[in-house]
Amino acid sequence: MKAVVLFSGGLDSILAACLLKSQGVEVVGLNMVTPFHDCSKESVERAKEIGIELVVRRFGEDYMNMVAHPKWGYGSNVNPCLDCRTAMCREAKKLMEEIGADFVATGEISGQRPNSQKMHQLALISRESGLHGKLLRPLSARVLPETEMEAEGKLDREKMRSFTGRSRGRLIFYARNAFGIKSIPQPSTGCVLCENSYAPRLRDMLKHKDVPTIWDVKALAQGRLLRVDENAYCLVGRRLAECEALNDLFADPKRSRCVLLYPDNYMGASVMLVADEAPDFGDENPVVSEKLESYIQTAGALSLRFSNREKYALAEGGTRCVLHVGATTRIVAIREDPEVEKIPIIMEPLGPEKKKEAESREKPAQTADEKTEENVERESDNVDVKLNI
Ligand code: SF4
Repeated sequence: MKAVVLFSGGLDSILAACLLKSQGVEVVGLNMVTPFHDCSKESVERAKEIGIELVVRRFGEDYMNMVAHPKWGYGSNVNPCLDCRTAMCREAKKLMEEIGADFVATGEISGQRPNSQKMHQLALISRESGLHGKLLRPLSARVLPETEMEAEGKLDREKMRSFTGRSRGRLIFYARNAFGIKSIPQPSTGCVLCENSYAPRLRDMLKHKDVPTIWDVKALAQGRLLRVDENAYCLVGRRLAECEALNDLFADPKRSRCVLLYPDNYMGASVMLVADEAPDFGDENPVVSEKLESYIQTAGALSLRFSNREKYALAEGGTRCVLHVGATTRIVAIREDPEVEKIPIIMEPLGPEKKKEAESREKPAQTADEKTEENVERESDNVDVKLNI
């Protein structure tokens, strides 16, 4: 028997793969990279550790349509987990057919995530992905309807597990004792769609654009986001890394229509203005319409708003910016504009320290689970942990 296992490199997918391997199933891991979540590096390392082959694939622009219009709605933020899991299972089905595998497995655990892993939701994913009885969740298989492989006696249902709920303690105990896994991955979705610091930006984008592109959502993660009007927004980079990220975004041929400004004769903030008025990538003779000219002045004033006044006041001959518009570069004079003070920041970027704080707030009660790990080990005779090896 050969199986494709959706493999993030997290504890659940590691256990699903190990459990199947221990039953003599040949396992090929599949790691799906989304525009919002890339755990391919960790998954490659973890796959090596447990000795499975790994295929890494990326979702394309189609994924964005699903994020903008999820059939099954969003979770607690802008995370369309049910649609996303279904899309991942469809990709796993494709790989299963390509390599002649017999079934697909995931590390999903019934009841572990309130928005995508309730029993009826797992059934929905099996159905919507087209996998039906060929989708196995080895960690919860004994509490879920029988799959084709179990019904046909190709897999021993009794050797599958019946984990349910959010507790990690039992999984950690099982990982250590059944498979000798010493380094336990931290629980984290890592998906920015679940992050409070990113979701408001994407919500704003979705209000103004029917289906954003991958470039759009990459851009949203950089610097401060300020909406100028219904048709234009600015990203302001103050730190060096943010400014470099804006440069990279501007150099991307798949970029949305935008212009980039950075200070010419003062130290200060870079600004990317994203607007339909901006010329196309590579346009060598861009026309700067009156509207675009006014946006550029707003962007310039925003650069000053986020720069040090004492420093830019010393700029000789007045403040100037380098403007990249289409494939051309110009120097433009810019000036302060008190009106730009009124443009609200959609969401401040989080510095490394604030990010740490936010992450610790967002983490589920896993620390409590970890704390009870010793208790779990003591209670293990009573819980669903039968060691296979
Ligand atoms: S957390 Fe993100 S990557 Fe994971 S299922 Fe939800 S939307 Fe997909």
